[in-house]
Amino acid sequence: MLPASRIAADRPVPHIVTELPGPRARAHVEFDETWTSPSLPRAYPIVPVRGEGLTVEDIDGNLFLDFAAGIAVNSTGHSHPNVVAAIQEQAAELIHFSASDFYLPIYPETCREIARIAPMSGRKRVYLGNSGTEVVETAIKLARFATRRPYVVAFLGAFHGRTYGSVSLTASKAKYHAGFAPLLPGIFHAPYGRVEDLRWFDEVLFDKLAPASEVAAIIVEPIQGEGGYIVPEDGFLQGLRRICDEHGILLIADEIQSGAGRTGKMWAIEHWGVEPDILLSAKGIASGMTLGALVARAEILETWGAGAHGSTYGGNPIACAAALATIELLEGGLIDNATIRGEQALAGLADLRRRFPSLVRDVRGKGLMLGIEFDTADHAEEVQWEAYQKGLLVLECGKSSVRMSPALTVSEAEMATALRIFAESVAAVAGEHGEILAAATAAGVINEVEEAV
Ligand code: PLP
Repeated sequence: MLPASRIAADRPVPHIVTELPGPRARAHVEFDETWTSPSLPRAYPIVPVRGEGLTVEDIDGNLFLDFAAGIAVNSTGHSHPNVVAAIQEQAAELIHFSASDFYLPIYPETCREIARIAPMSGRKRVYLGNSGTEVVETAIKLARFATRRPYVVAFLGAFHGRTYGSVSLTASKAKYHAGFAPLLPGIFHAPYGRVEDLRWFDEVLFDKLAPASEVAAIIVEPIQGEGGYIVPEDGFLQGLRRICDEHGILLIADEIQSGAGRTGKMWAIEHWGVEPDILLSAKGIASGMTLGALVARAEILETWGAGAHGSTYGGNPIACAAALATIELLEGGLIDNATIRGEQALAGLADLRRRFPSLVRDVRGKGLMLGIEFDTADHAEEVQWEAYQKGLLVLECGKSSVRMSPALTVSEAEMATALRIFAESVAAVAGEHGEILAAATAAGVINEVEEAV
């Protein structure tokens, strides 16, 4: 039972009371841009100061409906009371003691919980870091160490983070590499998603570039995130598993964005019944506290010994407390809610696609990992901006897509509101009347639709 609303008790959500960005937001953006690194890829000028569930209040007192969730991080909604209580209790007891050098009780407890929910059978062990990219780095080091092989294969369209190893695996946008070469050597990029793409391994990689016996790992997002919320064909992940088994290659599932219940299962890879050798989690697993987790079959992690890898902050007790509270909430109904609300969303978005066939080119996803592809990058950006203007927060991804990744606590009414505002935003970009008439003319139902419009 959630306590009475802190920020939207007597106001609807969204509720926009200033022009956007508002005066205080504009002043803040100017202040920010004086002091912060220009590398930060800001999507639009929302300046949040408070959050509760899916509601975010900005610095000007506007209320937004948050369908971006801090880049798919706030899995349990903003400041869920159980997560807040867990953080407060832990902070009052012990804020930090490095688990790398000493024995912190909550650290192995968290490792055991994450191992328990990981989609692998057999004995598992866990390493905790502070972020997604850190555990991707850990996975690269571990895969090379455990197999004594040099090469790692990632996919075109992949996003694995910004540090050197991770950004070398990343291949969603060339600008992420611009100016940073030479990147980590020993990395190949394979085509993603179709079963026929798997032929690339035998026909290109193993035949022309590197023997299979020298490939340490294949790292894959079971559903690509930043690359555009791309769902692979059935059989693709099973095919990768077969290739790995045949050649002694480790399969690493990067579930940093797709995991923690977002797709209606704890891990997206479970939709295809595939077990990875190494699983990576971050983002939603701790509801916004900084935690990354690497789970591996025990015999893989047991290849390395003391000193091979560690971190001052990794598995910080407050992040661990948040993760334990989060996992309890996910298993206590939020994953099921992701499935139900995801179906509601896909039905609404399919309708949108029928209404705007030339603008909305594809609608895809599983659970609450939803991608809407537009005909051009400009249109995706314009829809994102229109939605923001109307109080709905969504986020672009891929070349010309917009993603919806709301908290798993999203209600039926919140989903309906988001779908309505999103449709209004698309209509504003499309010039609704013209689109509908064009579609209706094509379908031979002009009179009916004319009346409806
Ligand atoms: N892997 C995936 C699939 C991601 O989506 C991201 C971030 O968006 C990362 C890795 C990097 O995570 P972080 O930003 O926590 O370093």
